[in-house]
Parts: sequence; C-alpha cells; structure tokens
Amino acid sequence: MSAPEEFDVIVVGGGPAGSTAATLIADRGHRVVLLEKERFPRYQIGESLLPATVHGVCRLLGADEEIHDAGFTAKRGGSFRWGTSPDPWNFLFALSPELSGPTSYAYQVDRMTFDDILLRNAARHGVDVREESAALDAVTTGGRVTGVVYSDPSGTRRELAAAHVVDASGSTGRLHAAAGGTRRHSEFFRNLAVFGYFSGGGRMPEPDAGNILCAAFDEGWLWYIPLREDLTSVGAVLHHDQAARIQADREGTLYESIQRCDIVRDLLGDTERITEGTYGRVRVRRDYSYADTRFWAPGITLIGDAACFIDPVFSTGVHLATYSGLLAARSVNSVLAGELSEERAFGEFEGRYRREYAVFYEFLAAFYDMRQREETYFWHARKVTDMATDDVQAFATLVAGASSAETALVGADALTRRFSSASAELTGAVERTGAARTDSGERMTELFRAPVVADVMSEMNRIQRRGAAGPAAEAPLLEGGLVPTADGRSWAEPGTAPA
Ligand code: FAD
Repeated sequence: MSAPEEFDVIVVGGGPAGSTAATLIADRGHRVVLLEKERFPRYQIGESLLPATVHGVCRLLGADEEIHDAGFTAKRGGSFRWGTSPDPWNFLFALSPELSGPTSYAYQVDRMTFDDILLRNAARHGVDVREESAALDAVTTGGRVTGVVYSDPSGTRRELAAAHVVDASGSTGRLHAAAGGTRRHSEFFRNLAVFGYFSGGGRMPEPDAGNILCAAFDEGWLWYIPLREDLTSVGAVLHHDQAARIQADREGTLYESIQRCDIVRDLLGDTERITEGTYGRVRVRRDYSYADTRFWAPGITLIGDAACFIDPVFSTGVHLATYSGLLAARSVNSVLAGELSEERAFGEFEGRYRREYAVFYEFLAAFYDMRQREETYFWHARKVTDMATDDVQAFATLVAGASSAETALVGADALTRRFSSASAELTGAVERTGAARTDSGERMTELFRAPVVADVMSEMNRIQRRGAAGPAAEAPLLEGGLVPTADGRSWAEPGTAPA
C-alpha cells in the first residue's frame, strides 16, 4: 500500500449522521473526506422525521430550502391508537412552546432522496465524498485512532490518515469497536420489524393526513406512514419471540399483523402491496435498540446508529443521528482549532448525546406500558423532560426532538424568515384542529383547549422578536458544561461566547 493520504477528518458513512458531521466540519475550512460503501441514492428505513431535524439541523447545513422544495409529505404530528383508549388520539407539534407555528411540522421522506440531498450538500460544502468506498479497518497508533483502511471502487485497499475519525457507519458498520467500548442491546426493547410498501391507501382527515399512525394490536404495533399519495410505508413491530415465524414467512407475517389491526386494515382496504423495484421487498430488521458503552476514544467518535439506537415508535433515529452529527462537529472543530482539550470537548458531546438518548429511552419504556391512557403518557413526557409546561406541551416538545431547547434545533432565525407565510398556515391548522376535535371526543377537546393554542401563538411572537434581535446566548445544558458558539459549529466556555 502506498503512503496514506492525509486529511484533517475522516467520516465513515454517508447517512444523515455522517453528512451532518462532515458538512459542519468542512464549513470551518478543515479537509474532510467521507467514505460511503454504497452509491447513492440508496434505500434506507427511517422515513418519518422530526421538526428538530428539518428546521434545526438542516437549516444549519444550508439544506433546508432543498428539503422544503423536494415535495415531501408535511407531517404536522402523530396519531396513536395506543394504551387503553379504543379511539385514535392525535397530537400536533404546534402544541410545543419550543417550536411555534413556522417550525411546527416535519416531513415523511423517502430516504433515498433525503439522504442524497444531504450527501450532495456535503460535497458542495467542500467534503471529498467517495462512494463505493467501504472502510475496512481503523488504523491505531500508540493507543490513538489515526486513520482508516478502505477499499476503493476498483477494490484496491487504500489508507487514509487524519487527526480524527468519525464513525457514522450505522447499525451494520464495524468501526465502532475501535473506540474500545461494547455495544449493549436493550433487554427491554427486544423487537423485530417486518415492513413493506403499498401503492396508496386511505389518509386520516386533515390536519392529520400527513401524520405517522402508530397502532397497537395484540402482538405488537404497526406504523403507517403516508410517504406520497401513491406510496405508504407499513411495518409491524413484534416481540423477538416471533423471529422464527417472521423468518419462515415475512410477507405472511406482515399481512397477518395488518389483519389483526383494524385501523390499519381499514385504511389499506384493498390497496396492493408494491412488489417490484426498491419498494418491492418485504424487509426485516431485528434487535434494534442498543447503546455503546463508549461514544468516543482518542482519535475516534461514534455518531448516529453507530453509537446507539432506540425503538422507532417516536421516529427518533434520524433526529439522534443529525443531532449527534452536530454535537460531534462542534467538538472536532473546537479541538482542531486548539480551543479545547479532547476530554472537555468530547465530554460535552457525549454528555449531551447520552442525555437526549436517556430522555427518549425512559419515556419510551413508560410508553410501552399499554395499560395507560394518553394523559399518563403526557405526564411521563413532562417527568422525563423536567419541563415547566403542561403535560401535553411537554409531550409535543419531546416527540418533536426539541426537549433540549437548543437554539440550533428550534432555529430562531429560520423562524423570522418563514414567519409571515407560515403564521397564516398555523392559524389555519389550529382552526382545523378545532374542527377536528369536535369529532374526536371529549378528551381531545381537553388536549387542544384554547390556552395551549394561545401559548403557541404568543411563543411565536416571542421567537420572532428573538429572531429579529439575533440568537440569544444559551445557558449550558449540562452542569459545568459548554455552550455552542454563535454560528453553532463549535463550543465555548460559558460567558466567552459572543451572543
Ligand atoms: P445510516 O442511515 O444507516 O447510514 C449509515 C451509512 O453508512 C450507510 O449509507 C451505509 O451504507 C454506510 N456504511 C456502512 N458501513 C460502511 C463502511 N464500512 N464503510 C463506508 N460506509 C459504510 N428513524 C426515523 O427518524 N424515523 C423513522 O420513522 C424510523 N423508523 C425506523 C424503523 C425501523 C424498523 C428501524 C430499524 C429504524 C427506523 N429509524 C427511523 C431509524 C433510522 O433508520 C436510523 O436511525 C438512521 O438511518 C440512522 O442514520 P445514520 O446516518 O446513523 O445511519
């Protein structure tokens, strides 16, 4: 092998985590190479996004306009047939005081398009993107990761050297072992998912037509994601003791699950499953909740699914991937600039990342208790987030990915840009919610009662003023911790960051 090519940073994996980290590091003028083993666009599961990704991280990446113009289905919230309530209940992201109107929606995306947008955007920001290039091994020198060996598109082994390696190779990558930790699978969430795609299907009434629907049935739960008018993603999440049955007949297991879940069965009616092309296969994913015992070691950081993953019921995967990409980029940039020690910078990365993961983990564990009514789930959301709001607001904030209240995720200046057109949109959505609640029964009336809506509107005005005045300096999220710099791309000690 010839002498290694040198970079400041090597990112392994071109999913949302890798593209995010690579772009935000390249933005600071560092030489970044990204290795991706596939040629994009490539298929991936994880289609239901959260507002924090769409309006927060994508805005920082400079990809928000392209995402908004891509024609994805707008997702204003979620619908659940869950717990003891026989009727489905809905929530709107607009109920979160952290989001306000203009950022109170996300998208249902086909990941081929979404991930491709982020990867091409990284290349435009100066990242050397190398597709069909699979990382084979980490190179370690004196206990520190100093490079990566990879196989180029012709199959030739090549070596790269860098001050830092970011492993964003997802759940199937192997590089995470170089950080010296252990991947611990959750004993609680030991599930499998079997999923496929249908050529349409029914939609819920507005404003919930673009919502993800999660519907429990006697053996597990089903997701129903309206991707396009002619494309619906449907998956069954079952306990791992169903593994043999799924292995014997994936398609049969998916159909049986749909038959046992009346709300999804009725929405699908006689809609046919797609049987050709990328969406033509029934796929299975197993044992998918875990966290590594180490998220970083000298010379290497783990982000996205390479570090941890939690059950998909609240669509948190891409949020955790992009959020950890942002946190890692701040730490790498601070260390490369000589501003902070690795321990200080990556300690902040790991602390914030584990906090976000833990909040969702604790809430999801409570959410899986099907014996409860929705009010109990809302109460749990407030408990785990420790928010000084009412239960419903805490729930909407948590499941929007905004419970850390980071400016980078709630996007104060983006709000100003979008405020005028979107405030009318929110008002319309709120009015439609008002109309919908009459049909949804008394409890929904309670949830969407007027003071909450008024709070959302006044928060919108507050954030608009904050946007006009520029981003406010943030307080540390962790005790004794750091704060983001004004451009959101590195860390500073509290009190030293310009507002
Ligand atoms: P990935 O998207 O997996 O990207 C990793 C990239 O690394 C891939 O492109 C891969 O080709 C590349 N790679 C792997 N090995 C190498 C190597 N050796 N060298 C170079 N490149 C390599 N999330 C949501 O947000 N919403 C949902 O609705 C949702 N539903 C889900 C349903 C199920 C059943 C499951 C299992 C997950 C779901 N997720 C969902 C989670 C989501 O799929 C992931 O969390 C998300 O894709 C993680 O992004 P990432 O960038 O970390 O990894």
